[in-house]
Amino acid sequence: MPELLIEGGTVVTQNADREVIRDGAVAIEGDRIIAVGTTADLNDRYDPDRRLDASGTAVIPGLVNPHTHVSDILLRGSCGTDRGLYDWLFNVKQPGIARMTAEEHELAAALYCAEALSAGVTTFVENDAEMLLGETDAMTAKFDAYEAAGLRSIYARGIRDLPVDDDFQGLVDRVAGRDPSVEHPDQERYVEPLEDWLEELARLHDDYHGSADGRHEIWVAPVVIEGMTDEGLREAYRFAAARDVMTTIHTAEAPGQAEGWLSPVEHLRNVGSLGEHALLAHCVHIDERDVRLLGETDTRVAHNIASNMALGNGFAPVGAMRSHGVTVGLGTDNAILSDTVNPLADLRLAAMAHKGHHTDPGVLPAEAALDMVTIEAARSMRKGEELGSLEAGKRADVVVLDLDLPHLTPVPDAVNAVVYQTLGSEVETVLCDGEVVVEGGVPTGVTEAYPDLHARATAAAERIVEASGIAEGER
Ligand SMILES: [Zn+2]
Repeated sequence: MPELLIEGGTVVTQNADREVIRDGAVAIEGDRIIAVGTTADLNDRYDPDRRLDASGTAVIPGLVNPHTHVSDILLRGSCGTDRGLYDWLFNVKQPGIARMTAEEHELAAALYCAEALSAGVTTFVENDAEMLLGETDAMTAKFDAYEAAGLRSIYARGIRDLPVDDDFQGLVDRVAGRDPSVEHPDQERYVEPLEDWLEELARLHDDYHGSADGRHEIWVAPVVIEGMTDEGLREAYRFAAARDVMTTIHTAEAPGQAEGWLSPVEHLRNVGSLGEHALLAHCVHIDERDVRLLGETDTRVAHNIASNMALGNGFAPVGAMRSHGVTVGLGTDNAILSDTVNPLADLRLAAMAHKGHHTDPGVLPAEAALDMVTIEAARSMRKGEELGSLEAGKRADVVVLDLDLPHLTPVPDAVNAVVYQTLGSEVETVLCDGEVVVEGGVPTGVTEAYPDLHARATAAAERIVEASGIAEGER
């Protein structure tokens, strides 16, 4: 018998038939959905312990974010905008992160969770690119925040094993020359021997994969192809396949990264790093042959429309990827690039921007766009059997969106409304694994665990910006 019946809402199931049920209901027992149907039908079948009146709402699957970074949320608004990729990375992000304490990483994680949950996110993949080898205190401090928040956190531990050569150092120096007042970290601090990374990864996976009642996972993130040896890329994929997780890599994000005899996708193919255990972020500067390779190898992609636009990197060929059967989820990437971790806001942007860029209004229809933050996003991280739709047997990750608002009136088609009309601020209730983690728009667990979160995060942000010198940088 269900413990909870969410009833009376418009249920956007995202099941195989993409069924939308008016006056629908979702029955939940423990951490699972046990039935989805009309309110009348489920009331005939069940006498639940509790009921949640969802009239005037859309009931959608918990949103899934396949690519994001967490700690730099505290650098939001501090000269990070209106810069290109390397300018932003070397002059803002790396200097800021290098000065953060473990407690500040934890505050960043709590703030991230508060915002993400309030926007309906129940699962995210964190690509932690700047965490140094052995910075265990900072990593586990973040894990504490994720556990308190109650959502699903996938921690992709960043690794980099290719020693810095003169060419790369020259590039860094020329970019850093723009902001001499900034304390630029030495690039060598991020590079460690592969065997040391693999040893730490194995330990992290043994100790933390499956923690937080199974909601927390450990993956591996070779940060960027240009920062890795061939052996490092190969071993990262092997690690992912052996432990049944995924490897996630920034790939062909900016135009310069696609130069050379081999495309980045071909390079990954040649070293044995494409396949169902690979989730590539971006894939903006790839051609038709690359897209075909991604499709043939069942490699997954995290598209990040807002960050690609903010950094002036261009538009990923999402239409071509869909045509070749590539599984594509939509990520929010860094909070300091799009200034939000709000998938519904980015969803609207993606659905509109691709139509304009490709001069094709059918290139990303509303249903396909919604798939990219629900079922396709779940598949992009090999979790399509568990997450991403409201169906009996799946995890009870559910979002209730208020539709009784001026900008959501009228709603003849709930999918259209969710994609084109929501702002991401309509979230009333969120369940993760059957537990209520947002109630009345408030992320309860993280709010209780971190009182005065906004004031503390603001103070920490001011200290980090001051200590790293990025406040004095000019745009
Ligand atoms: Zn990224």
